[in-house]
Amino acid sequence: MRTRFAPSPTGPLHLGHAYSALLAHDMARAAGGRFLLRIEDIDTTRSRPEWERQILDDLDWLGATPDEPPLRQSDRIGAYERALDTLWRRELIYPCTCTRRDIAAAASAPQEGAPPIGPDGLAYPGTCRDCLPAGYGAKPRPQGAALRLNMRRALALTGAVTFIETGESPEGLTGARTTSPDTFQAEIGDVVLSRRDFTGSYHLSVVLDDAAQRITLVPRGCDLFSATPIHVLLQCLLDLPTPTYHHHRLIRDEAGKRLAKRDDARAIATYRADGATPGDIRAMVGLAAHPGLLRFPNIPG
Ligand code: GLU
Ligand code: ZN
Repeated sequence: MRTRFAPSPTGPLHLGHAYSALLAHDMARAAGGRFLLRIEDIDTTRSRPEWERQILDDLDWLGATPDEPPLRQSDRIGAYERALDTLWRRELIYPCTCTRRDIAAAASAPQEGAPPIGPDGLAYPGTCRDCLPAGYGAKPRPQGAALRLNMRRALALTGAVTFIETGESPEGLTGARTTSPDTFQAEIGDVVLSRRDFTGSYHLSVVLDDAAQRITLVPRGCDLFSATPIHVLLQCLLDLPTPTYHHHRLIRDEAGKRLAKRDDARAIATYRADGATPGDIRAMVGLAAHPGLLRFPNIPG
């Protein structure tokens, strides 16, 4: 088993991240597997090396030191370019020049009813989808443009997609979770796979990086549950293996609100400065004091 923790170095590690990292670490330990780290720093406008240093230091302190050197997304642009070239040649992506405002205006046209909200916000209304003539994939891929997945063409290749959930889906169901082509079309639509301001997007990089790190189990917050079918679809299109997913509960503050990056009061660094021990952090997020005591009934091995 290979698990991972994939923080963006855009702020301090807080209790929610600590839970995710410790869970990934403990699951790997319980199965005699490996725990890996990935630094999700493609968004260079928000990522900072000092946050990365703090994250590595906090993980060591927590006792969740990764078993291999971290993979940095900023070192992976070449891999993202190659995957985009493949998708472009197959005419599975197309350039989109719409602004957020264009998309909102097109989606709220009077005859449309309530615009669907997907994991990336408003589902894209398709304005740029058929602007290029068939055969465009033989031309060079344009640079400096946003690129969207042509969901209809993608689904014609994949059909419904399925992954195995061992954690908590919103309905509390574990086991095989299938997303139908109709759900993809209605709720997700043509997602962005490369942004105008940097090569790649969260969806593309996470899929390529999990494959590169040979991750077999992805523990992640249940806020990402609706994005997981997109990742599984991309794995099918790019001929990559689909890991098992373990969506976990989110750590909330006393008022029941989700913790945010800017919520420095719950930064691990703040608890450390106040004299907390790693065991205190484990107790606060509801994890056993020692990883060896953990049992994950749904996970083989
Ligand atoms: N970097 C993402 C985050 O911090 C997590 C990525 C993932 O689990 O796919 O929310
Ligand atoms: Zn567009």
